[in-house]
Amino acid sequence: MFDRSRLPPLDQPLLSRTAEMLALPSRACFIRACRRARRCSFLYESDRQPCCLDNLDEEQRRLFDAFAELVRDIRDYSMPASKLLFASPWRGEREMQDAAVAVARSLLPKSRLRSFRAFVALRAKAPPPSLDGFPPA
Ligand SMILES: [Zn+2]
Repeated sequence: MFDRSRLPPLDQPLLSRTAEMLALPSRACFIRACRRARRCSFLYESDRQPCCLDNLDEEQRRLFDAFAELVRDIRDYSMPASKLLFASPWRGEREMQDAAVAVARSLLPKSRLRSFRAFVALRAKAPPPSLDGFPPA
């Protein structure tokens, strides 16, 4: 089986942009500077975690991490050569993938934008989702 623990860790820009996509700084953070800037404004020195993630309880953090891992996968594999489209036939999963594609786009260096655009064009040709919700676990 594929060993997910060998994937690169969730780095700080990825965690921060993902938190911002989910509006954690503006809607949930207890730190005023985050709410005003609508951006995560503080990182812990010890582990470089955005403070905004402290506002999540255990279950919310589990869901956040699952979404952040999807963002990482799309960031790292969003090129035609990878042959992955992240275009689920399940409506709920596809919505998550669409949101993750938007976050991943904000994390890519200029040198990756051409292959990313080609990936987006291929992805747009995938059939629309036809099933409700999420695939059974
Ligand atoms: Zn915050």
